Amino acid sequence: MPHPDVLQAVLKQAVIEGILGERFPVAGFIDVQGVRESVKALHDAFVHVPDVLHAFAVKACPLVPVLRLLADTGMACEVASPGETHLALAAGFTPDRIVLDSPAKTRAELHDALTQGVAVNADNLAELRRIDVLRPRRSQSVVGLRVNPQVGAGTIDAMSTATAHSKFGVALGDPGVRDQILEAFRHRPWLTRLHAHVGSQGCPLPLIAQGLAALHRLAEEINDDVGRRQVTSLDLGGGLPVNFTDDTTTPTYDEYVRALTRAEPALLDGRYQIVTEFGRSLLAKNGFTAAVVEYVKDAGGRRIALTHAGAQVAVRTVFMPDSWPLRITAHKPDGTPKHLQVIPQDVAGPLCFAGDVIAHERHLPELAEQDLIVLHDTGAYYFSSPWSYNSLPRPGAYGFLTEGGHVSLTTVRTPQSMSEIGEEGGVSHADALLT
Ligand SMILES: *Cc1c(COP(=O)(O)O)cnc(C)c1O
Repeated sequence: MPHPDVLQAVLKQAVIEGILGERFPVAGFIDVQGVRESVKALHDAFVHVPDVLHAFAVKACPLVPVLRLLADTGMACEVASPGETHLALAAGFTPDRIVLDSPAKTRAELHDALTQGVAVNADNLAELRRIDVLRPRRSQSVVGLRVNPQVGAGTIDAMSTATAHSKFGVALGDPGVRDQILEAFRHRPWLTRLHAHVGSQGCPLPLIAQGLAALHRLAEEINDDVGRRQVTSLDLGGGLPVNFTDDTTTPTYDEYVRALTRAEPALLDGRYQIVTEFGRSLLAKNGFTAAVVEYVKDAGGRRIALTHAGAQVAVRTVFMPDSWPLRITAHKPDGTPKHLQVIPQDVAGPLCFAGDVIAHERHLPELAEQDLIVLHDTGAYYFSSPWSYNSLPRPGAYGFLTEGGHVSLTTVRTPQSMSEIGEEGGVSHADALLT
């Protein structure tokens, strides 16, 4: 979480370097030291667990330099598509440090993963039958089964993966399913892992802990049933919620570990290797989005600031404003904070649909043309996974470091160029429909 002075210095430097301003009116920034500190907090919280693999959920920030930074801190990674696997390998993760979790893996994807030695969590029993066929005899891949402990939803339905009707995993409480799972393990000595991901943002810790305690009970039951310790690792998913309302990190990884231990004291006692898959909680507070205010206007008695940050960088916030509110601060064109009178303003984006508003009637210092706004806590799932509506370019992303009051910025992703936008628009097939 960058200190306000650091944030201000980053904005100032970005404007001086021309990576934020007239030509590039929106950009994302990543706090390199902050990422290292968040990873350290995660490692520290699990320090008493003998064998643990912390896998970063790549979808939270699919940027190769960020992944390489995480690899450098000792993280592994979790992927859910051929594209994410490609990025993970490009970042330097070896296959044994990659866990593949998608709910709809193709045969080709399974074949590649099992051949390379990427760990695979099968989403369902039909996928296990595919793996029976595709798995090379000497495959190095750890293979697991994802179960849905069906403990219920948190406050955001779309983020709750352990509901009765969730699309993910094998529904543990459905009639007959426990027996099917026992049977599946009996016939597959190479099936050695259980996986559950109870939910992401909005899921309270006790609910997550309850789901993971159920996972542990199932592992014990399977091992009793086969008469040996076949299940050797538990993959606990991700989903530590992030506080988007202020600068404090809550809940912490320590609190997560305490909640798990309270729900099942044996869960982290070392009998099982543990895998974690955190995404948002590692990156959200270590990134922010900055955008230029292009115009201000009044409509129906309301002030509206038209900015360059809209649904293309904050799709969830625009479409589900109550579930995904973002903190916004107002800055002068040189990055210094504004302290003018606070008035309610709509902070709107540049996209051509009426709903493209990041915040409604938000109380902020009165914004003016060329001011900057900052969307805080957007280091995960925001500027790193933009939406290409209106052919707006993917914004640039930059890492920052401070040393002795000096800020240095480094490019993580260049802003999308016009020729890349053309390519995305099929420009190389321009005549395709004329003949
Ligand atoms: C998205 C996802 C994660 C990461 O969730 P966060 O809320 O970002 O921590 C972990 N595991 C799986 C299987 C996921 O789909």
